[in-house]
Amino acid sequence: MLQCDRCKMDAVTFIRYSGAHLCRRHFSEFVEKRVKKELRKQGELRSDGVVALAVSGGKDSIVMMRLLHKILEERKDLELHAITVDEGIEGYRPESMEMARNNCKSLAIPHHVLGFKEMVGITMDEISRLSIQTTPCSYCGVFRRKCLNMKAKELGANKLATGLNLDDTAQSILMNFARGDIAKMARLGPHERVQEGLVPRIQPLRVIPEKESYLYALLNNIEFYDGECPYSERALRGKYRKIINELENDTPGTRHALLRSYDAISSALAKSFPPAQLNRCSNCGEPTLNTVCKACCMVRDLNRMMNK
Ligand code: SF4
Ligand code: ZN
Repeated sequence: MLQCDRCKMDAVTFIRYSGAHLCRRHFSEFVEKRVKKELRKQGELRSDGVVALAVSGGKDSIVMMRLLHKILEERKDLELHAITVDEGIEGYRPESMEMARNNCKSLAIPHHVLGFKEMVGITMDEISRLSIQTTPCSYCGVFRRKCLNMKAKELGANKLATGLNLDDTAQSILMNFARGDIAKMARLGPHERVQEGLVPRIQPLRVIPEKESYLYALLNNIEFYDGECPYSERALRGKYRKIINELENDTPGTRHALLRSYDAISSALAKSFPPAQLNRCSNCGEPTLNTVCKACCMVRDLNRMMNK
């Protein structure tokens, strides 16, 4: 068994992109230190008030919640609230929600659940049964963002933390480049500017690879739901995941390099694509570039399809 580079205890992992062997304690410290640094960089430690946490029950969101709870424990001026969105996916969401509930309970973090059915009137299972060309994830993402923003605002949150890890972030960067969607890339977040009606997002795990988030959960006995959404394989993101995994395998550090490149151009992007003036959706009041928000337009189209 190889030894930890820092203390000579048995190493539990080898970090390929840095060449370090780490034991359980030093691996956990390695993760915590980078999340703390990232939080500082994203300005979180300077603000007070309510921080909403998007917690699905999967490893990343649970690890994000546990880390924020640990890092911000002494901060009596901050209040953490977890939000779980129930998209209505049988055999998947009820199980993960249970994990979110248990973790919130053990950390004494208030847990709020809101469902697609009550918020937008349709579940993901119902959407998947309609014969539509678009992948179910396109609806899911738009509806989830709306639910999270609405609930975070209702809680008076000034930040909304998500469990986005380094792999997710690198995939989004590459995907937007490949599509030439630079305006979308400029909005990737974390959000520095506040736009009326939108709770700015922070991404504490954006520098942590997915495998490290998984290992952190295992080594720290954190309970999480390990299942996969039945609709996930239809997602376009899967292609980019494959490409990035191959690149990382051949050249360790590729994901970090993509993130660094993005960070290096993000202020130039923000200047070229400043946040647009937002209107309020005439139907639901949520912020939108148009008169009716994307979620409301999607619901209207889905209703038409169902009534055909
Ligand atoms: Fe929603 Fe797609 Fe994620 Fe499933 S994989 S929860 S459908 S976004
Ligand atoms: Zn709307």
